Amino acid sequence: MDNKPNNEARPPRQNNRGNGRGGRQNNGGQNNQSGRSAGRPDKSGEKRSGVSRGAAVRAQKRTQMDAQRVANQYMPAAADESRRANFIDDSPRLKIIGLGGMDGGGSKNMMLVEYINDAVIIDAGNDLSVDLPGINYGIADTSYLEQIKHKLRAYVITHGHLDHIGGLPHIVPKFPAPIYGSKFTIGRVEEIFENFGLPMPDGFELQTVTMNEDTHERLKVGEFYVELVRITHSIPGSTCVVLDTPVGRIINTGDFRFDPNPLDHERSDIERLKELGNEGVLALLSESTTVERMGRTPSESTIEQSFIDIMQQAPGRIFIGLFSTNMNRVQMIVNAAIHHNRKIAMDGRSMVSTLEMAVRHGFMKVPKGTFVPIANVASMKDEEIVVVCTGSQGEPSSALQRMANGEHRHIKLKEQDTVVLSSTPIPESGNDALVGVMVDNMVKKHVHVFEARNHELDKVGPLHVSGHASQDEYAEMIQYTKPKFFIPIYGAYRVKQRHIDLAIEQGIPRANTVNAVNGEVIALTTEKMEIIGQVPSGTILVDQTGAVVNNIVVKDRVLLAEEGLVAVVITVDKRNGNLLTSPDIISRGFIYMREQEELMNGLRNEVRRAVQQRFKRIDLDRFKVELKDHITHYLFEQTQRSPIVIPVVNVIGGKTESAKTVHQTKTKSAEEVAAEQQERFQKMRERLLTQDARVD
Ligand SMILES: [Zn+2]
Repeated sequence: MDNKPNNEARPPRQNNRGNGRGGRQNNGGQNNQSGRSAGRPDKSGEKRSGVSRGAAVRAQKRTQMDAQRVANQYMPAAADESRRANFIDDSPRLKIIGLGGMDGGGSKNMMLVEYINDAVIIDAGNDLSVDLPGINYGIADTSYLEQIKHKLRAYVITHGHLDHIGGLPHIVPKFPAPIYGSKFTIGRVEEIFENFGLPMPDGFELQTVTMNEDTHERLKVGEFYVELVRITHSIPGSTCVVLDTPVGRIINTGDFRFDPNPLDHERSDIERLKELGNEGVLALLSESTTVERMGRTPSESTIEQSFIDIMQQAPGRIFIGLFSTNMNRVQMIVNAAIHHNRKIAMDGRSMVSTLEMAVRHGFMKVPKGTFVPIANVASMKDEEIVVVCTGSQGEPSSALQRMANGEHRHIKLKEQDTVVLSSTPIPESGNDALVGVMVDNMVKKHVHVFEARNHELDKVGPLHVSGHASQDEYAEMIQYTKPKFFIPIYGAYRVKQRHIDLAIEQGIPRANTVNAVNGEVIALTTEKMEIIGQVPSGTILVDQTGAVVNNIVVKDRVLLAEEGLVAVVITVDKRNGNLLTSPDIISRGFIYMREQEELMNGLRNEVRRAVQQRFKRIDLDRFKVELKDHITHYLFEQTQRSPIVIPVVNVIGGKTESAKTVHQTKTKSAEEVAAEQQERFQKMRERLLTQDARVD
């Protein structure tokens, strides 16, 4: 896809996406009622009306299931029986397995091709759309590779977008093999390994093989031959991957469109696709991102004039936000800026990094002196400046957002500035709202804003075109390659189904198509294609540092975020079962305690009662469990909410004292011992009360 803006760590989740999360609305309305204020704690503490214990338990279960469901949208194979199947098949069939990219929106794209003793992985991306607290992105679960890692000969990469390469720094060190790709793609691969947050394991060395897609070079990889075919997309160096196997030829299109007039004049190599088709293609694996779009995608060159026009009219500085890897469009802006005697400053770490790589490898033509450091912008004349930056999706920490909010080190947007958003918000991402807030802030400052979606309203030409094909081009890909079998990949299930319909219209028999999901094993002979099993599949979650985060931790975070936490700290005298002080209550994200004195007093009374009634009758572990249930029940009854409840029970006196203390007690009076205990307890209590109650 072309829609992953950059590889910078995302800030903690903003709260404006809440509705995109499945499950939460669907809890019978119990937890989401407005006016969730605390009820009336019963003064007598004796009889309580309203919610039964069963209802409280059910409500808590529902809350936990909701959190689980949110967290489980992204789950490793080990957490789910159905995705853990142990698949072994040594028959001489070609096996194609989508470890990622076969459902959801088509991200963390990763296809495995396996034949007897050889295997090749095509693409290994990440999924930046994961919307969970503290999670930066997801990668494909690679448990299955443990079984076959001795077979792995290569990673072959279609193009350098993160949803096709972002998983590599996690996966390749565990399952080492050389990475094959075009010059630009390999440049991108090296870039993301260099910028990866965590150190590589000892002895790991990144091996890359740069292939020439213009000469139709073919390299032997195990039992396979690999070839790249040039294709147009929204990043330079995009290719189809051709894999000749003992069973037959397969083609993975990667992301593509057929742009007849690309800015870099590097058209799709349609002649080669036709040749390959004439020689015979066993299976076409075609990306499916925008199969639902009719007609043809307009050429990138249709937007060139729009930039020239805007630069002509803009009274002051110009800021252009776009996807960080879209170097052809940056080249377009460079050309227009030179034409209008403007200098260019660039901001956004990921974009600068990709530009440096593109210039180093000769993909960009930039005359000396065209670029100026972003720090110089403030001292230059307004009409001499174009700033190219990330942030066209309204990402909260992006360069453009910081400039709009006045938080940028060098630049604050002001009246007479012009901002061009040269992308459209990614569908279903929640970015729509983010962009809206950002544009509002700009308009309040009297900045001229050109949004791609409003270009007709603003009476300028188009400001963005998609990097993906529309229906006619998807159909042409099938016509050119004439495959026997058709496998839609890299897209949502429903969209892949449309792709199958399209293939059938192009003459592919329905029996020769398959809509497989992640983990399903597609087996191919020259005569037959069928799904023969399932390997483990799922999502591994990664945080801002690049470290993997356990699914259980994420579930707790979701619960904490939705319901908050209440810790109750009590200290009980072992000998007589009496509370030594009033229970301490710590809450985070639940209710504001100072405004709920009544509820807090009621809760303290409940805790006292529970201690009196139960502490001496049952063992400590059992007591903690019952106390937790009791508090949960009480809080639900009063507030209709089920926070995480953590009881902390300190027992003083008797056997729980350390040996040393017991020894000391022999030489001290009972009063002294009591005073010491009291002091220790005070310290512990202070510690507990001052520490942050957030737990992971
Ligand atoms: Zn892409």
